[in-house]
Amino acid sequence: MQKRIYNFSAGPAILPEEVLLEAQENLFSLPGVGMSILEISHRSKTFDKIIAETKEDLKSLLDISDNYEILFLQGGASLQFSMVPLNLMPPKNKADYILTGSWSKKALKEAKRVGTVNISASTEEEKFNRIPKQSELKLDPDASYVHFTSNNTIYGTEWHTEPEVGNVPLVCDASSDMLHKKINVNKYGLIYAGAQKNMGPSGVTLVIIRKDLLERSSDSLHTMLNYKIHAENNSMYNTPSTFGIYIIGLVAKWLKKNGGLEAMYKTNKEKAEILYNCIDGSNGYYKGHAQKDSRSLMNVTFNLATEELEKKLISEATVAGFDGVKGHRSVGGLRASIYNAFPKKGVEEFVKFMKEFQAKNG
Ligand SMILES: *Cc1c(COP(=O)(O)O)cnc(C)c1O
Repeated sequence: MQKRIYNFSAGPAILPEEVLLEAQENLFSLPGVGMSILEISHRSKTFDKIIAETKEDLKSLLDISDNYEILFLQGGASLQFSMVPLNLMPPKNKADYILTGSWSKKALKEAKRVGTVNISASTEEEKFNRIPKQSELKLDPDASYVHFTSNNTIYGTEWHTEPEVGNVPLVCDASSDMLHKKINVNKYGLIYAGAQKNMGPSGVTLVIIRKDLLERSSDSLHTMLNYKIHAENNSMYNTPSTFGIYIIGLVAKWLKKNGGLEAMYKTNKEKAEILYNCIDGSNGYYKGHAQKDSRSLMNVTFNLATEELEKKLISEATVAGFDGVKGHRSVGGLRASIYNAFPKKGVEEFVKFMKEFQAKNG
């Protein structure tokens, strides 16, 4: 088998080796089926079972009640920037958005096309290096919903508790931290997440929506943009990403087998701590972007004194077998994405590399 390197990519991103091996083993022919997952009909009994099991496993991992519908859609998290306001904003046509990074800004841009948007808080003036405090949020109690981004993939910040929004439905873009810990789904009206960061391959987006909110979807909406239609058709109004749903199912089983989301969260905290300790212990050689209380467990962002040094680190890291540590093109610097599937051993080895780099180039 070919050797694998350490993949710090922000997305599409690392998947559990066991999942890849199982998918590989069964790619030619699903056991007892005699056809590949890539070849079977989404209307087949085999696929019915796959989608049902995937939903059940997600329900059990997150304790999702029957008040919620689980959907597998396409168009990425980016299409949700439009679907959320199109479905949920009417009839009041006003919503609150909390701006904590590039993705929330993109969500805001689409919402503005649908109705009036109130920016409840923004940390843009501080280069999005923190999550706003509850006391900073200017919330409209009459808003259709409040939108926030639970993990800011590009800036490396994360909400450690949900904003308190009273009775207004809370909508969350959880694309880069979905399934990294147990959350209380009952606090949310809708959660969406592109799969390719922490759950599976690109091409499928998980949407968890409280059933009563489906009543807001107007019949005048285009069919493919209507949550209610997708819910009524078990995500199979059209052909879904069958392979994507299959891989999410394998990832969910992998999480369950390894102790569920409590165990995953414990490991994620340990991994992030190793990296942040290295940054904090470097006497300012490595500068973390996020303020300490806003640090992400998934995307660790930092800088060196100069761009030259950053480039040098990136190229030496690549040679040493660490891929994808370059920061997002919009902000530069460095970013180590250490999603669920990223092994603790890889973090330890990268920290060793960082310390050696500092010793040589300090
Ligand atoms: C990657 C990302 C997106 C965009 O996802 P696509 O599936 O490419 O549309 C949106 N929000 C967040 C938080 C992301 O990390």
